[in-house]
Amino acid sequence: MIKVILKKLGALVPACFIGVLAVQGTWAATPGDNMPLGRKAVAIVDGQYPASYFPNTELLGADEMRITALGTGMPNQTKRAVSISYFVELGNGDKFLFDIGSGAMGNLFSLRPDFSKIDKVFASHLHVDHVGDFMGLHIGSWLSGRYTPIHFYGPSGSTPELGSKTFIKGMKMAYQWDIATRSGALPDAGGEIVVHEFDYTEKNQVVYQENDVTIRAWPAIHSLDGSVSYSLEWNGLKYVFGGDTYPNKWYMKYAQGADIASHELFLPPKALAAYFGWDLGQATYVSTRIHTEPQAFGKVMATLKPRMAVGYHSVQSPENNAAIMDEVLKVYDGPLTVARDLMVINVTKDDIVVRMATVDEYVLPPNVTDAYKKAPRTNKKSPSKLIVAGKWKEYTPPPMPEK
Ligand SMILES: [Zn+2]
Ligand SMILES: [Zn+2]
Repeated sequence: MIKVILKKLGALVPACFIGVLAVQGTWAATPGDNMPLGRKAVAIVDGQYPASYFPNTELLGADEMRITALGTGMPNQTKRAVSISYFVELGNGDKFLFDIGSGAMGNLFSLRPDFSKIDKVFASHLHVDHVGDFMGLHIGSWLSGRYTPIHFYGPSGSTPELGSKTFIKGMKMAYQWDIATRSGALPDAGGEIVVHEFDYTEKNQVVYQENDVTIRAWPAIHSLDGSVSYSLEWNGLKYVFGGDTYPNKWYMKYAQGADIASHELFLPPKALAAYFGWDLGQATYVSTRIHTEPQAFGKVMATLKPRMAVGYHSVQSPENNAAIMDEVLKVYDGPLTVARDLMVINVTKDDIVVRMATVDEYVLPPNVTDAYKKAPRTNKKSPSKLIVAGKWKEYTPPPMPEK
């Protein structure tokens, strides 16, 4: 059934490895998740996954990892391919975001997640197609259930002003008015951003370790100093998020043993030139010097041999996907997924299942918890007398409800 569905997607899903799970065992899964009304999650029995992933209908196995590609496209995002972001959920209930590029918040929201659990973003670098929706996430999740600070993990730069601390400081400055208008009406602590900047030059350093989850970072090669790749290790499973990078020796070393190794998979020069209307020289420079063109991706994966190679960061069209696949397959014939937005990968020690999510385009916000409703809101504010005096006297609002 899963195979049939993927076949129907044709050129949009050029190649997928489908492992059929035979999962036994416990189903603890996202304990305490705030499930939307009308939804009851059930365990997957005998590896019989539905052909499509319907958010909040499946219990994640206690030993299972679910990776959802929220954005796989370019800075010039389209409706079907927004900028880069991956959402990782673990069977212990922990959730992580790797990048939150422009447009990705809409896809995250379409999953109706429990936003009180989503408070950590790991940024690979500070390009808009990797962090452009950070403030959208911050404000949107503060409105929809998050009542504790959000944590931004990201690299330093070659100078202080090119690092994550400055980025967050700038975002706070730029959105002062927005944050001031919502403070008081929304939980105080939810409006806070905590930045964890780390040295981008450190190799395989631990940047996060809690609850048996270890996240490491190492340098990537992309444009200027200050890009990194990450690995997340938990329960014997390893997920690698490459960010943007030219093929590099650190990735080849520290991504070893990955169950899921994601790495950018850019358009080949000719396709890139055609897409942007660039000359072949510029396209060749960007595709093969700043990014990783398909044959280079294939060579990386042929050497690394992950259980599943995941490529992303391209322009989704049948022609472009065909051009990418032609080049990759010249040098790599292992398990491969070319990720699309809202592709879902379930991972256990035994198997890997790749499906697409089915979401409602007019999705309603998830329900919020009692803890969110009761969280302190202390800031009092009001507009000036001049503005208040401008209220039209011919209209009287309805009385406020009794408390
Ligand atoms: Zn970039
Ligand atoms: Zn990028």
